[in-house]
Amino acid sequence: MMKSFAENFFTSFGAQIYPLEDELVVDLPPDLAAVFGKPRLYLVFAKDGQGEPRELSPVEDLLVYGSRTFEQMLDLLVGRGEVAYLRLPSQLPTESEADLALPLPLHNCRLLEQQTQLTHDQFYIFNFRAAYLSDEKHEEFITVALDAEGASRPDKINELTGGAFFPPDRPTPVDPKTLRRLLNCAGEVAHKQAEARATELEAAIQPRLQRTLLRLTTFYRRLTDEVDTGDFTQDETVRADLQRDLTRKIADELERYRLRVTLSPLSYALALVPFAHYQLTLATRHSQQTLDLAQNLFINQLESFNCAYCQKPIDYLALCDEGHAVHPSCLDTCSRCDRDKCRACGLQSCAICGQLVCADCTAICAYCDRWLCAAHLAACAICGQAYCTAHSFRCHWCEQIYCAKCEQAGECVTCHAALASPVIVAEHIPVIPGIKLDRYQWRQAENQTFVIYMGRGQGFSSLWLGRVVIITDKAGEVAHRHNFGLWSFLFGRQ
Ligand SMILES: [Zn+2]
Ligand SMILES: [Zn+2]
Ligand SMILES: [Zn+2]
Ligand SMILES: [Zn+2]
Ligand SMILES: [Zn+2]
Ligand SMILES: [Zn+2]
Ligand SMILES: [Zn+2]
Repeated sequence: MMKSFAENFFTSFGAQIYPLEDELVVDLPPDLAAVFGKPRLYLVFAKDGQGEPRELSPVEDLLVYGSRTFEQMLDLLVGRGEVAYLRLPSQLPTESEADLALPLPLHNCRLLEQQTQLTHDQFYIFNFRAAYLSDEKHEEFITVALDAEGASRPDKINELTGGAFFPPDRPTPVDPKTLRRLLNCAGEVAHKQAEARATELEAAIQPRLQRTLLRLTTFYRRLTDEVDTGDFTQDETVRADLQRDLTRKIADELERYRLRVTLSPLSYALALVPFAHYQLTLATRHSQQTLDLAQNLFINQLESFNCAYCQKPIDYLALCDEGHAVHPSCLDTCSRCDRDKCRACGLQSCAICGQLVCADCTAICAYCDRWLCAAHLAACAICGQAYCTAHSFRCHWCEQIYCAKCEQAGECVTCHAALASPVIVAEHIPVIPGIKLDRYQWRQAENQTFVIYMGRGQGFSSLWLGRVVIITDKAGEVAHRHNFGLWSFLFGRQ
């Protein structure tokens, strides 16, 4: 953090910097050389969380918070406009929209249309100094990166503070109102960071404070115990004085250990980052989708374009037919509807045939909780539940298959209801060649798919005629019929 601050700082003041392995060599322009008292600085940085780095040679300066060099840098910032304009160079050889190729290869889709726009998007870097004062003093530097809308972009900090920058052709003026608004946004972000740090520091202060208070109270208790002037009233007065003394000292210590945080803005930089914005119209075998992509041309990477399933950056585009961009390895094809679905949309393998099927083509058997493909599941015509072959039964009257729950002693709930229903007139029964409807007494019941007519032979020939069952769909088309009787037993089923 300190190193990137120093690089930024000296670059924006027009110095030449040469980063070496463990130090930064800075060739100062004349006005800065006058401030620092030498034309060249050799800056050494403390490693994060470690106190003293290696031994310094006489020409080297350790750049840490509170060091002389750091204070000189801060003085410079306070005195100046505190603003740097950075225009990041494009890594692309071309600056023409027409020459831009598709930013990534396509897996299961093809390009129908591409619109590209080259821009310089604005990002802001705000630097704050946070000071934490209690019985100890800590200082740190907080850097906040924002986009032009004021949203915090921590991912941009390294990119925008890490490299060498080129001054823009002309400074982009920022109007004071925008700047104030952005500074407020940045202040909120910095404030949150400072608060988190303060909470840590307070946790470390507590044991020190407790030790100090314990020492004080123990000391005063001993003094109080030792009071012996030989006069009871005078003893009491001395003890009361000691108690007052202790109370005051405790208040002093509480004040000394109280953590005070100050946050002050130091500088800001406006960075113009080259971008290519793409609007792509893409087609898979089953859908057409538009996709907006932004490519950061400074680092030559797509901006926050992550897989909808595994969340890792996408370098090879596969499109889910539900509109998700994913990796080819995070995409599967449904074996029933042939649509490409990403793993976030959930493809499951059928518990019977093992084929991968999408959520639209699968269901769970209501009785065994197995994921099954549509080929291995049916919806029960009586209760509507999905059931698998292991949880099905065939009614001996209507010979239709239903779920196991809709069985009552070998017959389905519908046939059971038909047998118990009142007799209806034969005129309402569908005409079937070879069956004399008026020889039977008819009853009827229906479920979601079928109407079932139960006929029972009447009169002396009832033994021959037995029963006939006619099953129609809701439109009245005969789906199935079946005779149960001696006649059909002897002469075969019709
Ligand atoms: Zn993925
Ligand atoms: Zn499917
Ligand atoms: Zn999906
Ligand atoms: Zn299956
Ligand atoms: Zn059922
Ligand atoms: Zn089942
Ligand atoms: Zn039945």
